[in-house]
Amino acid sequence: LVAADGTVGETIFGQMTALAATHGAVNLGQGAPGTDTPGFLVEAAAEAMRSGMNQYPPAQGLPALREAVVTQRAKEHGHHVTPEQVLVTVGATEALTAAVLALLPRGGTALLFEPFYDGYAAAVAAAGAEIVTVPVLPTPEGFAPDWDVFDARIAAGVDLMIVNSPHNPTGMVLGREDLLRIHAGAVSTDAWIVTDEVYEYLVFDGREHLSLAALVDDPGRIVTVSSAGKTFNTTGWKVGWCIAAPEVREAIQAVKQFLTFVGSGPFQPAIARALTAHTDFGAQNRDSLAARRDVLLDALAEVPGARIHRPGAGYFALVDFAEVPGPAVEHGGPGRDGAGPDAFALNAHLTAEYGFTGIPVSGLCRTGSPAAAHYASTIRYSFCKAPEDVERAAAAIRRFG
Ligand code: PMP
Ligand code: GLN
Repeated sequence: LVAADGTVGETIFGQMTALAATHGAVNLGQGAPGTDTPGFLVEAAAEAMRSGMNQYPPAQGLPALREAVVTQRAKEHGHHVTPEQVLVTVGATEALTAAVLALLPRGGTALLFEPFYDGYAAAVAAAGAEIVTVPVLPTPEGFAPDWDVFDARIAAGVDLMIVNSPHNPTGMVLGREDLLRIHAGAVSTDAWIVTDEVYEYLVFDGREHLSLAALVDDPGRIVTVSSAGKTFNTTGWKVGWCIAAPEVREAIQAVKQFLTFVGSGPFQPAIARALTAHTDFGAQNRDSLAARRDVLLDALAEVPGARIHRPGAGYFALVDFAEVPGPAVEHGGPGRDGAGPDAFALNAHLTAEYGFTGIPVSGLCRTGSPAAAHYASTIRYSFCKAPEDVERAAAAIRRFG
């Protein structure tokens, strides 16, 4: 597990991909799309290569892409920024890491909502800072942060927080009040806020993604991060960006130049075109994902005792196997409080015997944390796979159930 304990090893995604491959199982682990990017994007990148855009692009990113981000922010969020505020990065991952390294003081404190995308903890560890967490827990309506813990963390003092909505892995979509409450907490402790909005277009069932920087009068402490990977099924192109006040953007760019210097040139004009002319693809992608989500959830609903969380957004569904009788408990061994199965052991069993693999959610938590205990029997399944793989996984799940 990378850096959830401050150590670096193979990511949970790499480990579970290897597990699936060993058994020829359907890999519902890593959130890697099984459907391709649209042809118009491939053509746009090829055209950029043919026209000679094959050398280092400008350090801050191609002006056309920065302008496209400005247009997209205004259109989708009513958030008016300038190209000077935009920095193009190698995926959201680099934007997050560079922002953390630029803004979080050594020995400082970063607040993460747990479970969390593993790269956050790695970035905080690289910055030489401490992590405190706020659990994200199921509620009757979906998922929500534990606000009492949030208030206590703020009272103790925080230098930076990473806010991920829509949230990986729970699919939680924070509302206006939630976001403003987080902002007020940051103001009171004078913390930076880095928002990770990579799933901004993939919000289901009429929900709405709200971007914090668009909701407040003074977004000066906010760094907004997004990426083209999820929106356009281009996770392999690694085109992301962040938006911040000009001097904050400069500080992040100062770090970025020594991480990767610049990002891939020919993909930037292609994403620029997609962001301005083809955001309807984001909506199509969302609808197609929602359909695959439902295929998976229908099959999971047939597993007696499985507690299924219908995600409001993103790539993932969480299933708690704590109450599943029979093989789950026999093969999973004791999990939470000795009651349910341990998700790591159960996931290995389901992979070997039934042919489907997910990510144990405690692998996205810090070892021994309250969130890790809460999610001890919970597995994350990704439904962004090819429709035939989702069908194959659904059949495998039905064999188990
Ligand atoms: N943030 C979250 C919440 C993610 O799930 C991912 C997964 N890819 C990333 C960031 C990384 O995005 P990118 O591939 O653009 O670096
Ligand atoms: N974000 C994806 C996930 O959560 C995977 C990204 C990665 O492998 N680093 O599964």
